[in-house]
Amino acid sequence: MASKERVFSGVQPTGNLHLGNYLGAIVRFVALQKDYDCIYCVVDLHAITVWQDPAELPKNIREVTAAFIASGIDPQRNIIFNQSQVAEHAELAWIFNCIARIGWLNRMTQFKEKAGKDRENASVGLYAYPCLMAADILAYRATHVPVGEDQKQHLELARDIAQKFNNDFSASIAAHGFGDAFFPLTEPLIQGPATRVMSLRDGTKKMSKSDPSDQSRINLTDDDDAIAQKIRRAKTDPDPLPHEEAGLANRPEAANLVGIYAALADTTPADVLSKLGGSQFSTFKAELVDLTIAKLGPVRGELKRLLQDPAYIDSVLGEGSRRAQKIAAETMRAVKDIVGFVRQ
Ligand code: ATP
Ligand code: MG
Repeated sequence: MASKERVFSGVQPTGNLHLGNYLGAIVRFVALQKDYDCIYCVVDLHAITVWQDPAELPKNIREVTAAFIASGIDPQRNIIFNQSQVAEHAELAWIFNCIARIGWLNRMTQFKEKAGKDRENASVGLYAYPCLMAADILAYRATHVPVGEDQKQHLELARDIAQKFNNDFSASIAAHGFGDAFFPLTEPLIQGPATRVMSLRDGTKKMSKSDPSDQSRINLTDDDDAIAQKIRRAKTDPDPLPHEEAGLANRPEAANLVGIYAALADTTPADVLSKLGGSQFSTFKAELVDLTIAKLGPVRGELKRLLQDPAYIDSVLGEGSRRAQKIAAETMRAVKDIVGFVRQ
């Protein structure tokens, strides 16, 4: 049975939604709704792989939801929901825990980075995170997943899991009328001019919600003054901007700021440099401040307006969850038959 083309992606409600999430993921989500059925998930089960304060988590879930809508995702045309309302994600993740090999998970760099030196003390959930991510995607048999560059390895793992499931159960898949493959091999969509926005304090580290320094990122909720101050203080080098892209090699901070400018202006780094090459950073940063405020200001305004109405946000999540659950439950029934479980 050929799967319909379908987009799935998620964002964790871990607080501090930032410019990297916006340019690397959310802007892409908005663009894809024209051509695909899209399912966008606030992945709260992923969030608790590291400690989340129960007093803060609901606020963060509503903030990601509001950011989706404020950025232009239409909750009627697409499905917007939070992961914990659809139990099939956790259920399918268990099956995938039994498909994925320990050796595969041991190679995951996100676990190594997030667990740090004290690996023995990391949660089992943080280790198994990629299996849950594969379940998120494959519960909808999604064919395309827009993500930032940092998620590439996890998507490869999701393909490996789908492939091994299809192989291990090939006879049962055929016997139940699903042909020669049940799960699609999902295509990552790592596209656009800003697939990896870097920290404003260190051009070799990605901008992250979990970075302890608030100066490292521009949050979607930052006011104009905060945006201006963070960009003015962003780390740079002493040289003026080059005229050509090759001149950005070995200048990670300069490359990052030019990349951010290009993404916000919907153009290319080469085009930015042809206009602003030769400028001192003081001049370039002033331009970047104006552009960032012009682009993020309206999103922030709408985000804040939506957050005034938590009942509306919760109704979007509730309705989205009901629609998502219908699809996921159908997948889960088929998976149970394929694996050989007895069900009602
Ligand atoms: P955390 O530090 O809690 O993992 P995060 O900033 O990595 O937070 P996620 O919720 O894990 O955010 O990721 C949501 C989406 O944003 C993913 O598609 C991810 O690839 C993308 N993304 C995250 N950081 C960046 C970045 N710096 N540049 C581009 N895309 C990013
Ligand atoms: Mg992340």
